[in-house]
Amino acid sequence: MKVAVVKETAPGERRVALVPEAVTKLRAAGLEVLVEAGAGDSAWLSDDAFTEAGASIATGTEAADNADAIVMVGRPDEAAIARFRQGQAVFGMLAPLADPGFARRLAETGVTAVSLDLIPRTLPRAQQMDALTSQANIAGYKAAVLAADTFGRFFPLLITAAGTARPARVLVLGTGVAGLQAIGTARRLGAVVSAYDVRPETKTEAESLGATFIELTSVGSASGEGGYARALTEEERQAQQDELAGHIARHDVVITTAQVPGRQPPLLVSGDALKAMAAGSVIVDMGASALGGNVTGSQPGETVVTENGVTIVGAANLASTMPAAASAMYARNMSSLLLYLVKDGALAVDLSDDLQRGVVITYEGRVVHPALADAGGPADVDGASD
Ligand code: NAD
Repeated sequence: MKVAVVKETAPGERRVALVPEAVTKLRAAGLEVLVEAGAGDSAWLSDDAFTEAGASIATGTEAADNADAIVMVGRPDEAAIARFRQGQAVFGMLAPLADPGFARRLAETGVTAVSLDLIPRTLPRAQQMDALTSQANIAGYKAAVLAADTFGRFFPLLITAAGTARPARVLVLGTGVAGLQAIGTARRLGAVVSAYDVRPETKTEAESLGATFIELTSVGSASGEGGYARALTEEERQAQQDELAGHIARHDVVITTAQVPGRQPPLLVSGDALKAMAAGSVIVDMGASALGGNVTGSQPGETVVTENGVTIVGAANLASTMPAAASAMYARNMSSLLLYLVKDGALAVDLSDDLQRGVVITYEGRVVHPALADAGGPADVDGASD
């Protein structure tokens, strides 16, 4: 079986789906690995390093056309989709839930599409394949470092002959994987950290990392299915924004990480909350997206400064800004999943397996993922949503 690593085409994407260490692991399992020339350049991984690990270097089209499985970090672009054929597989963080037409287009090519961002995270055997967690850990770390870099004062308490600096007050909104890593990193830098999440069960995790957990009186628990948050109602959203505004104003730095699966990120920092912050405050919005993020006015990939001097960093895709670490971790997730799906040197899809049913979105020309019923998935096709 031939596995091809292709160069990522999304703007600003610096990660690569496999690193040489993972190539060695796949070669030991009897798989051939083709790497598109320059695929690892942005993560400081040379073609020679891949060759030494046992891969062959090829052009992009050679790699993609000859592969049984194409592995990538993000989504294939339209040109790549047009080349897919029956019997091939594509692996990546395909984010199919927000765009059902995308899965349909993949199914039409006959490709078997496997989406690492849909790994059933609570299955113990899936943990080494959990790319959402590995990348969120990196992003959370980087968010705290970026906040410290942008803030015009110290994070730690400093007592010097030239004066005393009080520690920065950091507020982390959303305490999932990224938020907890941001708390830990900000604490290690010496900041005084508070945290808030709509899932009250995260309180003990935040506290164990040294944060003070904020409990809002106007919004109750919004724990949803599978350990995720549910979307708030309009009244809850308004009450949350209003009550959070007072807390936000008391902090120097705010890091927002709130997400609801398959939805636009919730708005947590309103325009009024921004106006109440002191000049020099910093917000890192990890939810920043073209559709809006956790913070009013944040722009993905841009830093904006409000009229009252608050710097808002629209921090989309932070994991990609640490491409060496992010690629190494992602490659471990990817190689574990590949080896899980390969039997006797070929991809063996078995949709009766709960892990596979969670990640395989198209198979044999059909959209097969239960969450994609609207895209012609199982509920539409079979009248069931198994
Ligand atoms: P996520 O990226 O979906 O969301 C980040 C955080 O935002 C979550 O904690 C969520 O509760 C919070 N949030 C959403 N709406 C909010 C709002 N309006 N206000 C404040 N906070 C809001 O979450 P994630 O980091 O992917 O983690 C999701 C869950 O998956 C967690 O329960 C985590 O423990 C779990 N998980 C389990 C495993 C495992 O069992 N192996 C592995 C990884 C993650």
